[in-house]
Amino acid sequence: MCSPGNEQNPRRLFLALWPEDAERRQLAELAARVAGRRRTPDANLHLTLVFLGATDPARLSAYEAALADFTPLTLELTLDRYGYWPQSRILWLGSSHTPPELYERMADLHQRLRSCGFVPERRAFQAHITLARNHPGPVPAEPLVTPIHWRINQVALVESRRQDRGSAYQVLRRWPAG
Ligand code: ATP
Ligand code: MG
Repeated sequence: MCSPGNEQNPRRLFLALWPEDAERRQLAELAARVAGRRRTPDANLHLTLVFLGATDPARLSAYEAALADFTPLTLELTLDRYGYWPQSRILWLGSSHTPPELYERMADLHQRLRSCGFVPERRAFQAHITLARNHPGPVPAEPLVTPIHWRINQVALVESRRQDRGSAYQVLRRWPAG
């Protein structure tokens, strides 16, 4: 099922939870309030599950075959906390109670992709939505009084393209929840 691939035409890909319009609006409003000048463009707000990186066409086909019967379960994620990573200067939004089903979904994805040569990251997964880059920190003083309840019913395959003004993302395909 998995072909070795070649180095032609690699695309920069990742699997993500991709907000629908309603959640994207809420996230954008929050980012506009707290994230400052370097905030993530509204259209780019997302939660990365698996960063696939530069992927050539053969490997992409292999990944798609490995994910052919992937059917994510619907899950609820409550975004109720900020975080800040000083090294990467990233301000993010996350959850104080990441549902176990999200880790199970990650494990399922990793297992499928491993069969195609994918090597998962070794550092622990921290579910987060980047609100701003090059942010001076610390996290906003304003408490997150109204958490965002995100009902997630799909996983998306997204391509990232470098542009003059940062990266632009395009959803290539979606796996809807069963
Ligand atoms: P830019 O790199 O232009 O500042 P970006 O980081 O949003 O913008 P990409 O680097 O293409 O764009 O990343 C796409 C997604 O994958 C982002 O959510 C990013 O955090 C994540 N990502 C990028 N590189 C890695 C990596 N090495 N390991 C894990 N996740 C990554
Ligand atoms: Mg990047």
